[in-house]
Amino acid sequence: MKAIILLGAPGAGKGTLAEGVRKETDYQHVSTGDMLRVAVKAGTPTGLEAKSYMEKGELVPDDVILRIVGERLAEGRPEDKLMFDGFPRTLEQARQLDAVLEKAGAKVDQVFLLDVPTETIVSRLSGRRICKGCGAVYHVTNIPPKAEGVCDKCGGPLYQRPDDSEATVLNRLEVYQRQTASLIDFYEQKGILIHVNAGTTPQDATKEMLSKLA
Ligand code: ADP
Repeated sequence: MKAIILLGAPGAGKGTLAEGVRKETDYQHVSTGDMLRVAVKAGTPTGLEAKSYMEKGELVPDDVILRIVGERLAEGRPEDKLMFDGFPRTLEQARQLDAVLEKAGAKVDQVFLLDVPTETIVSRLSGRRICKGCGAVYHVTNIPPKAEGVCDKCGGPLYQRPDDSEATVLNRLEVYQRQTASLIDFYEQKGILIHVNAGTTPQDATKEMLSKLA
């Protein structure tokens, strides 16, 4: 099994970049945020537990996250190549991921840190729109759909994630600084941290990451 991680602030473009790389490689996109949103929509016990944290822009507790990631890894096959987006987000999650991968004879191979200026991040999040039908991601000015409010891919309606409102965005950025940014050092010390300039276009960021993928 191969495992790589996309690390970066909310709005850095992890989901968009992951989709770009998935299309060009045989990596599978594993997004804990997407998995949680599916659980919330379906009203599962995990979804009910996660909902209030997500709405406030707080992190969902580690045990919940580790359970859903554990279930996902248990479905995996030895030849799988996994690209984690939005996970790990705490040191505890990172340590547990190492432990689980070690049991499977694997390790985190590379960690891609998305570098983006803070001003860009706030504008990206407040302009972000998502398709209710297929989850495709748009931006009102940067990645507009062909027809306003309608998904190019499946024709579904576009909506704004409740946690993309301005007050919640600021809290998510603070939570990132407080709880997730320390992972930069953690992976730098392991010698597997790679910077990607994600302040440009999705195409350029994808190209850069593909050129650095081992
Ligand atoms: P973003 O990276 O833009 O914040 P995500 O879709 O990755 O968006 O995450 C949305 C929310 O889901 C987070 O604010 C948090 O509440 C929850 N979440 C996702 N992944 C994790 C994780 N690994 N640990 C804790 N909470 C998480």
